Amino acid sequence: MAKARAKLPARKKPSNPLLTRWSAAFGIPPFAKIEPHHYKGAFAEALKEHKADIARIANQEAKPTFANTIVALEKSGRLLDKVASVFYNLTGADTNDALQAIEREMAPKLAAHETAIMLNSKIFKRVEDLYERRDTLGLDDEQRRVLELRYKWLVRAGAKLGAKQKARVGEINQRLATLATQFSQNVLKDEQSWRMVLEESDLEGLSTALRDAAARAAADAGLAGKYVITLSRSSVEPFLQFSSRRDLREQAFNAWIRRGEMGKETDNRAITAEIVALRTEFANLLGFKTYADYSLEETMAKTPGSVRDLLTAVWDPAVKRAGEERDALQARARSEGSNFAIAPWDWRYFAEKERKALYDVDEASTRPYFKLDNVIAAAFETAGKLFGLKFKEMKDAPRYHEDVRVWEVTNKRGDHVGVFLGDYYARPSKRSGAWMSAFRSQSKVAGEVAPIIVNVMNFAKGDEATPSLLSLDDARTLFHEFGHGLHGLLSDVTYPSISGTAVTRDFVELPSQLYEHWLMVPATLEKFALHHETGKPMPPKLLKRIKKARNFNQGFSTIEYLASAFVDMELHAREDEGDVDVGKFESETLKRLGMPSEIVMRHRIPHFLHIMGGYAAGYYSYLWSEVMDADAFAAFEEAGDHFDKATAKKLRKFIYSGGNQRDPLEAYVAFRGRPPEIKGMLKKRGLAS
Ligand SMILES: [Zn+2]
Repeated sequence: MAKARAKLPARKKPSNPLLTRWSAAFGIPPFAKIEPHHYKGAFAEALKEHKADIARIANQEAKPTFANTIVALEKSGRLLDKVASVFYNLTGADTNDALQAIEREMAPKLAAHETAIMLNSKIFKRVEDLYERRDTLGLDDEQRRVLELRYKWLVRAGAKLGAKQKARVGEINQRLATLATQFSQNVLKDEQSWRMVLEESDLEGLSTALRDAAARAAADAGLAGKYVITLSRSSVEPFLQFSSRRDLREQAFNAWIRRGEMGKETDNRAITAEIVALRTEFANLLGFKTYADYSLEETMAKTPGSVRDLLTAVWDPAVKRAGEERDALQARARSEGSNFAIAPWDWRYFAEKERKALYDVDEASTRPYFKLDNVIAAAFETAGKLFGLKFKEMKDAPRYHEDVRVWEVTNKRGDHVGVFLGDYYARPSKRSGAWMSAFRSQSKVAGEVAPIIVNVMNFAKGDEATPSLLSLDDARTLFHEFGHGLHGLLSDVTYPSISGTAVTRDFVELPSQLYEHWLMVPATLEKFALHHETGKPMPPKLLKRIKKARNFNQGFSTIEYLASAFVDMELHAREDEGDVDVGKFESETLKRLGMPSEIVMRHRIPHFLHIMGGYAAGYYSYLWSEVMDADAFAAFEEAGDHFDKATAKKLRKFIYSGGNQRDPLEAYVAFRGRPPEIKGMLKKRGLAS
């Protein structure tokens, strides 16, 4: 038998799990089998395959058709998508030295690969030919949109440039990929390497839950018996809110805002300067005056001017409000015998005291009602009521870390919709922040492909005695990311390039921010905001106080955010190609704005991860989307039902399922019947005059 077989041509069975067919339920990646050393071979194979796909499309004799060019491009590179999505999800959520080394090596290679495709002149000629004949091709609306978008992407990548300029674009893209990788690895290193080790006697003001969390963080770091505060938002922020040790607050705060700026090899300032200079050069090559002009061309906002108009409209009332808040905090501090002027590391601390005094609510009184499991259940039930989705936990599904949970998502009839992974706890191997991402996006062009979506958070972990309890902000974050998750899960398009969240970034925060509204509706709170020990619902009085306190400290939060949005915009609106002194630029911009000295930007430039990736000149998007989310939620209020069926149906069709099938403003108008109005957002922030 063995001999007879040996005569047959040897069929090489790939032993690399990234290259095999994934046989687990719904095609969930075989995480346990994948080792870091598998990626290099898998990337090499995937790049080879994608290159061959592209060469076939570019070199074919046949006249361009939608099928042989656009559809073929949409179908190409699937193995690369598969490998890269596993890789990049892990480098964000559960990285290690080996993955980071591969990430550094792959970044310029992948950028070069991508650039070569975007600047392939044969491909561009075919797409351009189709684009020019688009009215005569008999395309449906989605096909036409996909063709128009692809043409635009190629032009914006530099497809119309001459050979010399194209070569320079290639160099710029590779260098940018390398720098962005370094930037985010540096931030993670600074977060990993800093910790404040405390003794029992240093914990003044901290609740039992926070002490427990700090003790667990210490135990994880091999410092049992001590207490550790880290630079993870879920650790440092509560510490700043409650520690009555001003000296320790100052230490923690200064470390937190100096991530990426601590000097030596993890310093991001020179990296940022180079990134910004390269982006300006790139924009100039494409005929734009600044990178912001280039970047905004294909967004809802369209120009830096319209972004500045929106930010400015909110800035003035917010500064006024923040000034009133500061005066109140100063008075509170004085009344306690503290004679110092409120410093940035004091704001959160006295704000909590003020909140408690004014509304009788503080973080410690609400946290016991937001058990992580309940908040997850609430997010799921909301999706059930709005969109008919059901979630069933898959206890045996593969996962990349033991803390990850996996659910199958089905519709009302029980048909498979997709898979949802939830990765909720902070750990040193995870980047800070919270995000949604896909292991696989929905599409139909090569058969029905169901989405595999993940939400990653950085909540403090619970233990046997106390489950993970969320702050109200944490709970909102969970709803926010789950809203992005639904944008991926409900996607119902044919072509992968316009699937799910592949929309303009000032539209992409609409599904997520809108979803936050359902956390605070009575139906959700009554059922899910249950005390973790007694199981009793939140007392109506507390609920009332929370609602009353809703706009408390909004001046601070708005300024914190707006300052980052302005600095991002101005940094990318510089016409000067020369290197920028990042620190000086930041402080001068803030001075010009009239930044209150007691408030620091939410993300300072040296650790502003958003603007290293897709949000460059785009941090304003949250506010832009907020105009829409406040206005969109009002549609449910006007209907008199937070779960109104007819409104939910339109919301699903035009917003959550639509991907990039329609122009974003058209999609919004199709849902709402008119363009968004700003007044709802100002009211939501308590800034309406
Ligand atoms: Zn978001």
